[in-house]
Amino acid sequence: MLDEARRRQLIEAVASAVIAHADELTALDQAIGDGDHGMNMKRGFEAVLADLDGLAAKPLPEALKAAGMQLVMKVGGASGPLYGTLFMSLGKSLPEEPDRAAFAAALDAAIAAVKARGKSDAGQKTMLDVLVPVQEAVAGEAGIADIARRAQEAAEATIPMRATRGRASFLGERSIGHMDPGARSSALIVEAAAAALGAGA
Ligand code: ADP
Ligand code: MG
Repeated sequence: MLDEARRRQLIEAVASAVIAHADELTALDQAIGDGDHGMNMKRGFEAVLADLDGLAAKPLPEALKAAGMQLVMKVGGASGPLYGTLFMSLGKSLPEEPDRAAFAAALDAAIAAVKARGKSDAGQKTMLDVLVPVQEAVAGEAGIADIARRAQEAAEATIPMRATRGRASFLGERSIGHMDPGARSSALIVEAAAAALGAGA
């Protein structure tokens, strides 16, 4: 059961992972964007951490919606509204005690919301190139360690891709050869969430 203590663990693990990798996200965004992804995400997840007690006290759907709103308000850039949409939509779709099927369905709905918001799809060298295969792994009953591995592999698979959405698309061919920053931040979030969920499973 995802009780208050485990919700706290989950939120703290995800936020800390993003914050700890802010410099790496910045470096990735310096290569093919404007170098703000690390600071954007750090600011957003620091706001989430600052409200850790309040968020953990809420049922999971409400906690996700509230965290999503924090991200919309604090992250900024292209990724703020997109991550905000992802978490708010997850909150709207998930029951309080989701099983695997409910989680796969909610992730599917949340990804559809991100695609609509970003006018984007998988294959364009964005966070969707991690989120989509992760949803498939969740729906396909992959083990929790396998889901984390798939997320990281999917982020690495953005390296040879050419960006056709977001700031990196302005570089055209020169976007090839670098990992997408949003793909990396998505992989970090998935890895941290999988580790936190797996630890208490
Ligand atoms: P900005 O591009 O405004 O500086 P960030 O640097 O915070 O914003 O975020 C960049 C990341 O956002 C990209 O690496 C990419 O993964 C993601 N992204 C940008 N535009 C889109 C989009 N239209 N759809 C999905 N993801 C996107
Ligand atoms: Mg940027």
